[in-house]
Amino acid sequence: SRPLTNVQQRDVDSILHPYTPLHKLQEQGPLVMGHAKGVYIYDTQGKEYIEGMAGLWCAGLGFGDQEMIEAATEQLRTLPYYHLFGGKGMEPAIELAEKLKEIAPVPISKVFYTSSGSEANDTQVKLAWYYNNALGRPKKKKIISRVKAYHGVTIMAASLTGLPYNHKGWDLPVEGILHTDCPHYYRFGQAGESEAEFVTRLADSLRDMIEREGPDTIAAFIAEPVMGAGGVLVPPSGYFAAIEPILREHDILIIADEVINGFGRTGHWWGSQAVGMTPTTISAAKQLTSAYAPLGAVLVPEDVYQAYVDHSAQIGTFGHGFTYGGHPLGCALGVKAIEIYQRRNIVDYVRGLTPTFEARLKKVIDHPLVGEVRNSGLMGAVELVADKATKRSFDPAHGVGAQLARFLEGHGAVLRAIGDSIAFCPPMIITEAELNELFNRFELALADTEEHVSK
Ligand code: PLP
Repeated sequence: SRPLTNVQQRDVDSILHPYTPLHKLQEQGPLVMGHAKGVYIYDTQGKEYIEGMAGLWCAGLGFGDQEMIEAATEQLRTLPYYHLFGGKGMEPAIELAEKLKEIAPVPISKVFYTSSGSEANDTQVKLAWYYNNALGRPKKKKIISRVKAYHGVTIMAASLTGLPYNHKGWDLPVEGILHTDCPHYYRFGQAGESEAEFVTRLADSLRDMIEREGPDTIAAFIAEPVMGAGGVLVPPSGYFAAIEPILREHDILIIADEVINGFGRTGHWWGSQAVGMTPTTISAAKQLTSAYAPLGAVLVPEDVYQAYVDHSAQIGTFGHGFTYGGHPLGCALGVKAIEIYQRRNIVDYVRGLTPTFEARLKKVIDHPLVGEVRNSGLMGAVELVADKATKRSFDPAHGVGAQLARFLEGHGAVLRAIGDSIAFCPPMIITEAELNELFNRFELALADTEEHVSK
């Protein structure tokens, strides 16, 4: 390893890095970014990278969009901050809520704002409790999530998350959070089991869980339509159609975590539409503002909202809210981002690029290290394996995925290693030529990785 540059040293001297093996940071050195334009980002040394992850699955419009910059500047001049507590209001929050209601995949009545996806999901749990308290069923509190789900990092959102690093070391999940099966057929389908049989088995297992726990103890089920941080896991067709009737039968709210999927990513406005999911309520964030400012939202239908009104009448108020929930900067940028998505037909644009994305993913399927490729619209993954025939994974201690990501940085691109699955989630405005170049650089890193593991 090379000596750290001055800015790298200042970074490791002062930053506690999220999601980072802290014990390796000094040795590997952080990659400190300086500026960005379009799909390109440059480190402080001036080296160029294609940003293949839209940051953290969020910068859908890429960097430096002039209209977004102008919308932000205008809002900061007009009203840089206000809030919605105690019945106060402001125009950008209203306008964004109206837009969200217009484009929502199911009928929505009200929007509750947060600053992040974690806060949106944390709020979802509180709202499910508040709702059941309003209906006089205080025992109906448990939440069903799924293995490999990612819902964020607050104590409740991390509990909903079904990934080891979010639980290990933190004494999580908290009580009352259950995890049902992950619908990833490649990894969890049994020998000789068809996809349809796999779906039936998962639905039966969910029904068993509900019956075992008692339906009168379960408030809600939460799912990403297409799982993101678990490795870009696309459910088999018919999955939601099989499980939703079981949930409805037991009066369990269905929460769609659209934090990554929303706003065109899957080639639909919402991931729910891509996978045939019909949620009761929705969490949104990330591409809601295309990451030009932090903002999250929870979308609720009229009948659920009416229960909050009734309960507020009983107990005096609706006691929940964040200082920056509905921040006018975030809301103005949300309004502008949606306007841009609509005007530039971002859903059609993503659909137009998807065949190239899929062709480039499929091109590496015969590579000896590649076990599976998968995608929904412009989010995808390449899963590396030690043995294609048996699907045997590499020993996690070898960090093969992380090594590929480092080789890739050398070739000038950023993708995310989720264990040994390499995730792709480029800004939605990427051109076909840029997308091809991203894959060219990925293939170079894959070749380096092959050489590395053969040593
Ligand atoms: N939900 C999903 C599906 C996510 O992918 C994420 C973040 O990656 C979150 C929630 C948490 O959002 P945040 O990091 O804004 O708290």
